[in-house]
Amino acid sequence: MALYRVEEVLNYGGFFAGDTVSLIAVPFGQDGPKLDAVIDEHVFDNLKDRHRVVAGMVLDLTVEAGQKVTAARIVAARTREELRAAVSCDTPPHQGYRICAYRCPRCDLWVRGEPERVSERTCRCRVCGETFTA
Ligand SMILES: [Zn+2]
Repeated sequence: MALYRVEEVLNYGGFFAGDTVSLIAVPFGQDGPKLDAVIDEHVFDNLKDRHRVVAGMVLDLTVEAGQKVTAARIVAARTREELRAAVSCDTPPHQGYRICAYRCPRCDLWVRGEPERVSERTCRCRVCGETFTA
């Protein structure tokens, strides 16, 4: 899997074309070729609705030859609202101490899940790997 940032969503397929989202994405935090892909909704493992995939989101993708995406996960979005709209927050209510997302000041994104704790007051972002004060 590798992280990509969605540069542009070209269209959302439906009906005869199948449930897909067509997008252009660039590797996140590294050099590499642009991805121009049509992704089947069912390869996402945490997506509520493909219409909620928007530019600026960071996706974890498995890309095979011919730019075919065989696995996808939404990792981060520009706003908490965009992230919440796209991703099912499946944390059970009894685990109320867990957080659904955090904002990384380094990559300026809302990231699904919890940052890695490196000390009592310091966290490490799961997307960019930078540390920040919680
Ligand atoms: Zn970050």
